[in-house]
Amino acid sequence: MALRDIIVLPDKRLRQVSKPVAKVDAGIRTLVEEMFAAMYAAPGIGLAAIQLGEPKRVVTLDLAKKDDEKAPQVFINPEITWSSETKSTHEEGCLSIPEYYEEVERPAEIKVKYLDLDGKPQDLQADGILATCLQHEIDHLNGVLFIDHLSKLKRDRVIKKFAKAAKRAAE
Ligand SMILES: [Zn+2]
Repeated sequence: MALRDIIVLPDKRLRQVSKPVAKVDAGIRTLVEEMFAAMYAAPGIGLAAIQLGEPKRVVTLDLAKKDDEKAPQVFINPEITWSSETKSTHEEGCLSIPEYYEEVERPAEIKVKYLDLDGKPQDLQADGILATCLQHEIDHLNGVLFIDHLSKLKRDRVIKKFAKAAKRAAE
């Protein structure tokens, strides 16, 4: 299995709204394998399919600590059904915005419904880092990046930086 590239800012596909998965079939399971491979190789703790250029509502996560056993999680067509009033702030980064980290405030707790790899509906209540990661990845499915939650000044600065880098690479 060839390792697939993760697309980075300013790739316009990152702004695409991903389509729901109609059926969890062999094609989706292969995509999930490719997502885990790319995510672990990066290395990262979360990935949305659009980061491989696939506009499908699929998210992979693994929040296991470095020396612990792998704990892969898959969310197909994830949907936030409830968010807490209480907010929390975590430092976020993104494999599509390499080496940029910033604190983001989001609801501290959420409820999510999704399909698992067998296509079965599941519910999950999440807090802490899991809640943050799920909201970050579900944002990706809607063409939203974590820098959209920052001030315009900070966002413009990072967008400019990556646009410049892309221009230099193309020269
Ligand atoms: Zn991301």
